[in-house]
Amino acid sequence: MYGTRKPGLWWVFRSKEWVTVPMNVFVIEHDDGLVLFDTGIDPAATTRAYWPDAVTNWFVRHIFRFDVDPEDRLGDALRRAGYRAEDVTAAVHSHLHFDHAGGIADIPQADLFVARDGWDFLVRSSHPEREYVTRQHVLVPGARWRLLDFSPTDDPELAPFTEACDVMGDGSLMVVPTPGHLVGSVSMLVRRAAAPPVLLIGDLTYSEELLLRNQTAGTGDKEALLQSYAKVQTMKANNPDLVVVASHDTTAVDKLAAARIGDLAAS
Ligand SMILES: [Zn+2]
Repeated sequence: MYGTRKPGLWWVFRSKEWVTVPMNVFVIEHDDGLVLFDTGIDPAATTRAYWPDAVTNWFVRHIFRFDVDPEDRLGDALRRAGYRAEDVTAAVHSHLHFDHAGGIADIPQADLFVARDGWDFLVRSSHPEREYVTRQHVLVPGARWRLLDFSPTDDPELAPFTEACDVMGDGSLMVVPTPGHLVGSVSMLVRRAAAPPVLLIGDLTYSEELLLRNQTAGTGDKEALLQSYAKVQTMKANNPDLVVVASHDTTAVDKLAAARIGDLAAS
């Protein structure tokens, strides 16, 4: 989460400290239906059977402690929040890590979006599970996967990003490439009427504060992360109202609650 110069195995055995983070799924109420940003973790991911590769199994058991119940499936979590899984029309994946793409079986009717390079990694890598991408749980029969195609844009609200994918075709949900965490990592700008825009950034960082001070995590491509951080920082400088939310940010729920619809109209 905070980065380290220590070798990976040394860190796992001698230097590790535990932090507790949420695994958020974001729900957008769009006129054409519910749109999700990420689909969360499959509770089965806490079991050994989910990780047939012995090396990955070992790392999963030494890096993560899961506080996930069987009723934390995507469909159940949506119901608790007052939504129905059947009403989800699309799900945009920030990347394909298991704790972000684990709910697709609950929304078979939805279009599932992923960046082209993330998809290529999934289908071509000899051991995607060693990057915590589980091919057998993503390539679910019948799943309606779609590739995000980025087009050039000069939309001033997206600057300094120069390409984007307009997911719903109305400019409300604009996906931009933010490489660095995992191949194919993207962020999504959510533009709402009479409310501050929200930039959902997945695992680009674990909190906005870490991103603003250029503190990278111990995983990913540091140079690529810093280039993506600079773009997000510029976007925020261009629009100080922008709400930047990381998937595992412990303050994500409070941040979104504080940026409700109507806030801009009132200010
Ligand atoms: Zn991740």
